[in-house]
Amino acid sequence: MSVNQQAHTGPPYGQPQPAYQRYQQPGYGGQQMPGVPHSQYGVYNGPMPGYQQPAPPQGPLRTPPTSGAPPPTSGALLPVGQPAYNQFGQGDVQNGIPASAVQMQRPSVSQPFIPGSTPTSISQLSSFQQYGPSPTGAQQLTNHMAGMTIGSVPTSAAPPAGVGYGPSTSVPPASGSFTATGSGLYTPYSSSQGPRPGVPLAQPAFSGPPLSMQRLPSQGSGAPRPSTMQSPPLSGQALAGLPASQPNHLASPPPPQQAMSGPHPGPPMTGLQGPPPPSTHPSQPGYQIQQNGSFGQVRGPQPNYGGAYPGTSNYGSQPGPPPPPKRLDPDSIPSPIQVIEDDRNNRGSEPFVTGVRGQVPPLVTTNFLVKDQGNASPRYIRCTSYNIPCTSDMAKQSQVPLAAVIKPLAMLPTEETPPYLVDHGESGPIRCNRCKAYMCPFMQFIEGGRRFQCCFCSCVTEVPPHYFQHLDHTGKRVDFYDRPELSLGSYEFLATVDYCKNNKFPDPPAFIFMIDVSYNAVKSGLVRLICEELKSLLDYLPRGGNLEESAIRVGFVTYNKVLHFYNVKSSLAQPQMMVVSDVADMFVPLLDGFLVNVNESRAVITSLLDQIPEMFADTRETEMVFAPVIQAGLDALKAAECAGKLFIFHTSLPIAEAPGKLKNRDDKKLINTDKEKTLFQPQTNFYSNLAKDCVAQGCCVDLFLFPNQYLDVATLGVVTYQTGGSIYKYSYFQLETDQERFLNDLRRDVQKEVGFDAVMRVRTSTGIRATDFFGAFYMSNTTDVELAGLDCDKTITVEFKHDDKLSEDSGALLQCALLYTSSAGQRRLRIHNLSLNCCTQLADLYRNCETDTLINYLAKYAYRGVLNNPVKTVRDALINQCAQILACYRKNCASPSSAGQLILPECMKLLPVYLNCVLKSDVLQPGPEVSTDDRAYIRQLVTSMDVAETNVFFYPRLLPLTKVDVDNDALPAAIRNSEERLSKGDMYLLENGLNIFVWVGVNVQQGLIQNLFGVSSFSQISNTMSTLPILENPFSKKVRSIMDMLQAQRSRYMKLIIVKQEDKFEMLFKHFLVEDKSMSGGASYVDFLCHMHKEIRQLLS
Ligand SMILES: [Zn+2]
Repeated sequence: MSVNQQAHTGPPYGQPQPAYQRYQQPGYGGQQMPGVPHSQYGVYNGPMPGYQQPAPPQGPLRTPPTSGAPPPTSGALLPVGQPAYNQFGQGDVQNGIPASAVQMQRPSVSQPFIPGSTPTSISQLSSFQQYGPSPTGAQQLTNHMAGMTIGSVPTSAAPPAGVGYGPSTSVPPASGSFTATGSGLYTPYSSSQGPRPGVPLAQPAFSGPPLSMQRLPSQGSGAPRPSTMQSPPLSGQALAGLPASQPNHLASPPPPQQAMSGPHPGPPMTGLQGPPPPSTHPSQPGYQIQQNGSFGQVRGPQPNYGGAYPGTSNYGSQPGPPPPPKRLDPDSIPSPIQVIEDDRNNRGSEPFVTGVRGQVPPLVTTNFLVKDQGNASPRYIRCTSYNIPCTSDMAKQSQVPLAAVIKPLAMLPTEETPPYLVDHGESGPIRCNRCKAYMCPFMQFIEGGRRFQCCFCSCVTEVPPHYFQHLDHTGKRVDFYDRPELSLGSYEFLATVDYCKNNKFPDPPAFIFMIDVSYNAVKSGLVRLICEELKSLLDYLPRGGNLEESAIRVGFVTYNKVLHFYNVKSSLAQPQMMVVSDVADMFVPLLDGFLVNVNESRAVITSLLDQIPEMFADTRETEMVFAPVIQAGLDALKAAECAGKLFIFHTSLPIAEAPGKLKNRDDKKLINTDKEKTLFQPQTNFYSNLAKDCVAQGCCVDLFLFPNQYLDVATLGVVTYQTGGSIYKYSYFQLETDQERFLNDLRRDVQKEVGFDAVMRVRTSTGIRATDFFGAFYMSNTTDVELAGLDCDKTITVEFKHDDKLSEDSGALLQCALLYTSSAGQRRLRIHNLSLNCCTQLADLYRNCETDTLINYLAKYAYRGVLNNPVKTVRDALINQCAQILACYRKNCASPSSAGQLILPECMKLLPVYLNCVLKSDVLQPGPEVSTDDRAYIRQLVTSMDVAETNVFFYPRLLPLTKVDVDNDALPAAIRNSEERLSKGDMYLLENGLNIFVWVGVNVQQGLIQNLFGVSSFSQISNTMSTLPILENPFSKKVRSIMDMLQAQRSRYMKLIIVKQEDKFEMLFKHFLVEDKSMSGGASYVDFLCHMHKEIRQLLS
């Protein structure tokens, strides 16, 4: 069945989850197996009493459960509102460190570091000023930074994240012009061919007797780092073995004979030679902005662009004679491609074994296997630094944010074992008496094993008799290797009833499909498409356990300005429809028969899905409601006393008279004004309140948007965002071009594993504390991240601040605990532990940072900042913080050298190029073609991205297609994202996680065009195709297999866009050549690096 195949492209690495590996080998019990290589932690050799065989997250091989099925539920109605469960114990007394006055006084959200703590007198460097003005001195920047309020955005007010991106949303369906955007003025009855307003909806005839409309009563509403670890050298000196073209030690300006001299040596392919580059750039004395590339028109001064640099409007405009024209050779500055390549070569061949504290994992772009030996896999947690300063002063001095990007339910490749499930029976997991941390490898057993000392708060707790075990001569429990919670970084506990709402085990969740049946939705073929797809897709609901069939019940609603509920009870011959037109006071008109088991009601469901497109075929309704739809779904889940997910398919701004009604308030003139932030804010707080109710019920909302114009993603997305849901956006949806993408997204979204009704808490060693959180969730207090749903693709970024000193000896520990309900209705706790090193030398911090993670944090921080600050302020703050990070390194860690040299820490040598990509992203510096909805969508999307996703989103992957080896599985070597790297005679593939572009040069050989596109010439290539034609030749097969592989790696199906060189669509493509100057005024990499250098020198002088 194709659905199934599609579905299982979901896991990363494009491979199905393996049958779950269990403790089934003989000889279990901690004995070393003969022939099994000895490892520090040994192997799990068999079933352990007390272990429940863990359920695979998904996969074809499942067996009926032997235990752990949820107990029958009582018929009592849930009191709505306060959940009675508490992951962290029963009551305040047990909730965290008791009565900690210190904790009470801490701010609930992070505060920006006070840059004033950064040393201002730096003797090492001269006040060398070659690149122009130094109008903004360090102190000035400092003041600016200190005035920022980004960090004070309440996390609970975090905004939604968004969907359609760039070209996919700005390309109108029929015309070939890309200038139209989704942000046009809204007219209530959208198109000229649209129906007249006010035409009553023709009620479809049903063969079954409609239920009488009956108003129901409201249903209530520790080891040292090994010497072999590859640490960069302390100073900025280039690492031995690094290619010469990858210096992190950049002389700027270098001697004329070196980097700046003459024609650019770099472009790999020489196509047509363009006109000679201009000798100077008007806005940037000293550097030429761009080497003129090997093809195309001159990319010289571009006077229409905005300021040369974000945040420095006066940059380059200082009086005085400009220095002689020089240019910085792009090949002489750090290349992302080279860094990625080096890491692959150095670290891709050996497994990453997590037994060592503070180990920096390979980059996200490197394929590697993980062996859990006591710390969580980097697939679950990545940190900005794996060696954190002992003191708050040091942390402030460096300005390096201390953050972890956590993906608690991440999918693992087939070669790795999913977390084991531990069942401690009725007594539940063993926890510290005081801080409630869960048993983990870092707890210290003392007194012969009768008590243990907490690794987080040092409190000593009695070991319960049933958990007692003797210690060996090293003080280790003799059952150490048999208990995941003693020897592994990640594992799960089966939760007891104490961890359940109202002390009652949950029912399995429900999925409710809510389909917009307005004129636009019907006319585009969308309604029919959804109904057809659901008929087969419902067979692939997640099973989330050992169940043979999914426990998830399903329900169906259609709506325009009224709602239609369907009774699909298995005993009916035909489905029955109930219409609720009182949208101001929404209620669910039926309980029995609304949520059903798919297999039991299959005939009725199929009949319903056949009838829906017919019923509304002649509709003329264009006015839509939205909030009542969510309300109805929420009420249905409340009535059924379960958590669940709403899948809402929606086309337009909800203007019909109803709660949550919206008006068109799009105004692109607000861009670059102090009011720009309002474009990201919801226009009413109605949806935040609704979201709160949804979270309390565990009602997660996924939104599929199909807009033909502005529909206010910033407002409609609020509930999705705060309930941990996903938004997908298909602007100008057209069946032919968009259906494959939509169906792939829908299939993955319906089938992926989700934890429902979840609460996450991150505990830390005394000395640091989680202070700020970024992602799609809700917070009602300062510590617990509440998620109506959390799927395998979502991340939460957590920032830490010092509240005391850390010690180098004990390091710092993180423990992330996620309490959730599986799709099978099982209540579980997933625990991830990570141990970090602590340092008293800044150099140790800089040696153990991870720039990709840092960028993930900075992007989320900035994207949240635009909600409450002018965008320019946010950009300036980002630049300033990074300049301080690099200046601190230069001052404290680098060996003395000329101030004219830019010296970057080895681990951060890509910080400038990646930071520049964030600064010129559509949220922070939109191009003219980017709509308001696109920006809101991207903002929401990025907020939940993991490190791999932000990496490719901000610095897309660019592959030369004519370099592919058709006989080899390997991808062609990626090239840097700059136009000058492109050749007219080549074709390139560019992907950023949302789109795949295929760029075709005008001089590409005819044979290649024929092989890939099936047409005989460049001019015949259609740029409206949404898939490559399936042609029987090796080149076509290879390119399509590369695309399939890329699609399988991403959590969303990427839109294919064919771009012909010098075609009107090429501007869209160039937007993603992020090393170049952008249409919106974003700086080129070369320019930005020079600018950062200037900023750093100002801080140091
Ligand atoms: Zn404790």
